[in-house]
Amino acid sequence: MTLVLDGAAMARELLNELRGRVAQLAQRGIRPGLATVVVGDNPASKVYVRNKMRSCGDVGVHAEVRQLPGDASQADVLQTVEALNARTDIHGMIVQLPLPRAIDAQRVLQAIAVKKDVDGFNWANLGALVDGHPSLAPCTPLGVMRMLDRARLPVEGRHAVIIGRSSIVGKPLALMLIARGATVTVCNSKTRDLAAFTRSADILVAAAGRAKLVTADMVQDGAVVIDVGINRLPDGKLAGDVDYEAVKSKASAITPVPGGVGPMTVAMLVANTVSAAERLNPS
Ligand code: NAP
Repeated sequence: MTLVLDGAAMARELLNELRGRVAQLAQRGIRPGLATVVVGDNPASKVYVRNKMRSCGDVGVHAEVRQLPGDASQADVLQTVEALNARTDIHGMIVQLPLPRAIDAQRVLQAIAVKKDVDGFNWANLGALVDGHPSLAPCTPLGVMRMLDRARLPVEGRHAVIIGRSSIVGKPLALMLIARGATVTVCNSKTRDLAAFTRSADILVAAAGRAKLVTADMVQDGAVVIDVGINRLPDGKLAGDVDYEAVKSKASAITPVPGGVGPMTVAMLVANTVSAAERLNPS
């Protein structure tokens, strides 16, 4: 029997656990606050932002959106970030990606105060992760690790193969898996004979953004398959990077899309915001 890793249920559990920490902060007059900076009008971003706001609200975390017009200048965006850096009632800040082309996304991300960088994209936070002392780390890889742990799926000594080398998913996840004693292979679009690598994976993570990239013949019997990809199909439905039904029959555990890694990413963002509020207000 294949174990289907229910990300929505795991996210609810995690959010429930956070309520206690939010209540402890409330006793000291502190309400964790998350600000999301949105530039322009991207329909997909709207859905993500709404989900984040809802999850924050569920556990008593304040959430607000700073909406800027699509033609906002780099200076406008930086000014917004600086103003949020200075606010004591905001403990976490994210800038919704993608940003319009005219904006230098790296400059904006690096302007977020390190202690409020709940997406974990600041080079200081990424550097801490490289060195094995993470503080605020990227939410999607954190969500993947949490799913493996919740399901008691062992990592140490396993061969983990990640398809995708982005700074948001593939690379930070590789670091987290290495820290836990996995042997890690990171593939990219230039990898020759991708299937030769994926077939040797005990844990296979697909984070390429290509629908049905991972077919059943690319997966070893009994592998754990984590599908990070989110792809919009021509019929409007969402699909991951994995050919779910076919791969499910070979995997020992698998994440669905939707309802897998996505909800865990949002829950980890709320968790990072609560952690940031605790660290900014040590008792
Ligand atoms: P990205 O920045 O576009 O990176 C994609 C990576 O996949 C790149 O490293 C690329 O290689 C590699 N790749 C693309 N096609 C490939 C192929 N045919 N074979 C092997 N490698 C291939 O994307 P991202 O931001 O990491 O996101 C990846 C996917 O995850 C997207 O579908 C995104 O929507 C989804 N996502 C989901 C969540 C969630 O919460 N579930 C969060 C973040 C992202 P090169 O570097 O060589 O180009």
